[in-house]
Amino acid sequence: MQVELAKTAGFCFGVRRAVETVYQEVKKNKEGKIYTYGPIIHNDEVIRDLEEQGVTVLNSQEELENLTEGTVVIRSHGVPEAVCRILDDKGICYVDATCPFVKKIHRIVKEESENGSHIIIIGNGSHPEVVGIRGWAKGPVDVIQNAEEAAEFTLEKKSRKVCVVSQTTFNYNKFQELVEIITKKGYDIIVLNTICNATKERQEEAGGIASRAGAMIVIGDKKSSNTQKLFEICSNACENTYYIQTLGDLNVNQLRSVESVGITAGASTPNKIIEEVQNYVRINF
Ligand code: SF4
Repeated sequence: MQVELAKTAGFCFGVRRAVETVYQEVKKNKEGKIYTYGPIIHNDEVIRDLEEQGVTVLNSQEELENLTEGTVVIRSHGVPEAVCRILDDKGICYVDATCPFVKKIHRIVKEESENGSHIIIIGNGSHPEVVGIRGWAKGPVDVIQNAEEAAEFTLEKKSRKVCVVSQTTFNYNKFQELVEIITKKGYDIIVLNTICNATKERQEEAGGIASRAGAMIVIGDKKSSNTQKLFEICSNACENTYYIQTLGDLNVNQLRSVESVGITAGASTPNKIIEEVQNYVRINF
């Protein structure tokens, strides 16, 4: 059996950095309590492991405001500036594990809005990353997700400066399409493509492997949207594509009749799980 593991399978740079930060804080603060503001990652296995080591997830701003002690780790998605202010005002120690690529967007949005630009974020307004980016603007902000919203966007003054940024995981072609619609409106516009390549590279590699594999295994949490997307791409390229969360979900009978297996994993899948699946397939088939 030939097994091809995607080089881009698993944690991207920003997620790895955030997860490692929490484990480092657990090691450093043997006495103090560690919190993450929101789950550090969309993966039940990792969250459970961290819980066992005493890490608590804060699920709302209210829970954050009620804190009186401990250290809070901010996840890779980032948070609005107001959240940092709450922690500063309360004197709660925090470690900012916002991905540097997201942090760069915070800086752009802050500076451009301070200089009078109207900010447009191309992305999903309810996604935590976009909520965070929005929270660094010092003036008006719009979030645009589709062509209808782009077409509807208007400002009273044509001369108004407009700065467009993107959610890091937004599709590049869709971004271009929406930017084109907005550009035609004739505003004084600057467009900054802030899409991160990690997602695109993972998707392209997965699609390529799936197209030459007899069966394809996609590993990731069922709630992870980027793993769902990977599964969709791989299913289109290989009809024997299987979505598993852990090795326990693998149905061995499904792999018996194929000669090659491809393996990829979503951005929130720990290496340990990928290794387990890879080793199992290599040894048993
Ligand atoms: S996908 Fe890119 S921007 Fe998002 S956390 Fe990973 S490395 Fe950072």
